[in-house]
Amino acid sequence: MAEVRVEHVWKFYREELGESGRVLAVEDVSFVCEDKSFLCLLGPSGCGKTTTLRMIAGLEKISKGDIYIGQRKVNNLHPRDRQIAMAFESYALYPPLTVFDNIAFPLRARKYPEKKIRDKINTVAELLEIQDILNHRPARLSGGEQQRVSLARALVREDALVTLMDEPISHLDSQLKAKLRIELKRVQEEWGLTVIYVTHDQLEALSMADRVVVMNLGRIQQIGSPIELYEKPSNLFVAGFIGEPPMNFIECALAKEGDKFFLRSTFFNFELDRGLGSEIAKESKAPQKLIMGVRPGDMTLGKSEDAESYSLQGQIFSIEPHGESSVVILNLEKDVQIYVEVPGLPEAAEGEVAWVSFSKQKMHVFDGE
Ligand code: ADP
Ligand code: MG
Repeated sequence: MAEVRVEHVWKFYREELGESGRVLAVEDVSFVCEDKSFLCLLGPSGCGKTTTLRMIAGLEKISKGDIYIGQRKVNNLHPRDRQIAMAFESYALYPPLTVFDNIAFPLRARKYPEKKIRDKINTVAELLEIQDILNHRPARLSGGEQQRVSLARALVREDALVTLMDEPISHLDSQLKAKLRIELKRVQEEWGLTVIYVTHDQLEALSMADRVVVMNLGRIQQIGSPIELYEKPSNLFVAGFIGEPPMNFIECALAKEGDKFFLRSTFFNFELDRGLGSEIAKESKAPQKLIMGVRPGDMTLGKSEDAESYSLQGQIFSIEPHGESSVVILNLEKDVQIYVEVPGLPEAAEGEVAWVSFSKQKMHVFDGE
């Protein structure tokens, strides 16, 4: 296993078309995946995750910057000389070989003893629930099965310095996904794998990764542990992308009266702790164009205002029971809605006027531009 370092890496597709025709896919991306750790590249479709992974794998030329695996700069190293295991979205299974032989292929190429190959494949097959299809050929398999075989083939590679996975469980049903999120993390820790894992699914990233690199439009938005990203998102994009249901946002402005700071909108006038007020005044690029954010699960629903907290009044538009919790949607105004997540079923009905309250510490403030 080895550390992977990506340093100021850029990728232009169709570079030969010059400044006007080339496509910027990855812009000045830098991060470190520590040895024996699980790093996720997370972001919406088209943000450059696969391109970044393919450059680490050597399947795509780096336009600018450097990539290191361990101490070795790999910019110009052929993929097969990089000692990486890969499970990519396009499964790349060999049609003539059975599932077992497909998984065994990289191990036989490295002269593993047959007994060891069998043991390893059985372990991984059980984990991924593919024991029953080991004798089948790829053409017979569903997309989800092919995906698991591809994943198995990457996982058995003990010799790999780093294991790269691109949306490896995207085609599985939600129950199997939930199981594999736990199992993949366990296997990574137990076997000491260094994993770089690409996904657009924040739940996968938050549940498995030691560190998450959040990307949008080819650029890194924030790097942090799952809890850091959740509790201290550094911009509006990260705040809105992480968390389900997503964070609520309301436009507002900073106001100062005497030595007091307020956050104001059509719907509220919150007095800020002095420290926070002066921090926003100092650091915000446009204190008149701020966004207040609060997570649906950080609010409570009540019949009156809570003097200790920040409160907002609205009319209940809908109540969606989700089993152990419910999502209540309130209208503050026709086109401004707030989502509140409450345990169980709320003691409230659609159409009623209600208050939502949240503690001052749970409020986020972002620059609106
Ligand atoms: P993600 O994996 O995050 O969905 P990709 O890395 O696949 O994103 O793509 C990043 C950007 O690069 C997108 O705008 C995509 O259209 C573009 N892109 C990807 N592959 C190519 C290619 N071979 N030629 C031109 N543009 C590409
Ligand atoms: Mg992709």
